Amino acid sequence: MNNCASCENNGMNVMSFTWFTDQEPAPNFKKIGELAKDNSSVWSCGKCGTTYYQRRGTVNDTMVSLNPAHCDSLLKWGNKTLHLAPTHKKTLKEIGGIFQGFVVGIDALTYPCRCKIKGKGWLDFCIVSFQPFAPAGFEFENAEAIYLADEVEEIEHSSFSLSREARHALEAAVERDRDFFPTILTAPDKVKFLLLNMQHFFQQGNYKAPELKVIEQWQEGGQYIKHIPDRRTITWIIMNPN
Ligand SMILES: [Zn+2]
Repeated sequence: MNNCASCENNGMNVMSFTWFTDQEPAPNFKKIGELAKDNSSVWSCGKCGTTYYQRRGTVNDTMVSLNPAHCDSLLKWGNKTLHLAPTHKKTLKEIGGIFQGFVVGIDALTYPCRCKIKGKGWLDFCIVSFQPFAPAGFEFENAEAIYLADEVEEIEHSSFSLSREARHALEAAVERDRDFFPTILTAPDKVKFLLLNMQHFFQQGNYKAPELKVIEQWQEGGQYIKHIPDRRTITWIIMNPN
């Protein structure tokens, strides 16, 4: 029988666990929705209340813990075709996309921007992502919110976005395969920042993200100021790949 891993670990939130497709779910594990797009489902544990996304695998599946605030968006994603209006496409073309690798092993084409969301107003730290996989898992877990293409009213450049050149440098970082993206960005006052994660935005002191330049390569032992991005400020806007 498939049991809830969070319950089996004394209620600790387990990020993911293997779901054996030839075994029955525990009695209090209930399916709360189906996603036609990737033939998967969303489940809820009646005991600890954790919500999970069932990611399909080749033999067995993986249950991925889901932030309850993102559940509605995931269910809508699974049952809708999401395309962007042509006017928005023009803006995104100017911003320039980069391919971001995700834990699922598939790259998505991503664009940092500022968006006006229906009923929510303007948000400065949005990432529009053209992706064939569900918005669930590590990259999305702590995000501020997840919205879908049809919830976007307007798209603009964000003043917190890194330049396309800086994002390309991160994308091409030497140790990308190990989820390690050492990239040096230099500010106009010659201060050098070390970025270690894939990121689209930059916010530190009075520095302006678009002014940071790619001038030199990262060197072990170099004198840099480490920059840690805050995933909690990110809002994802999910599109179908097209
Ligand atoms: Zn549980």
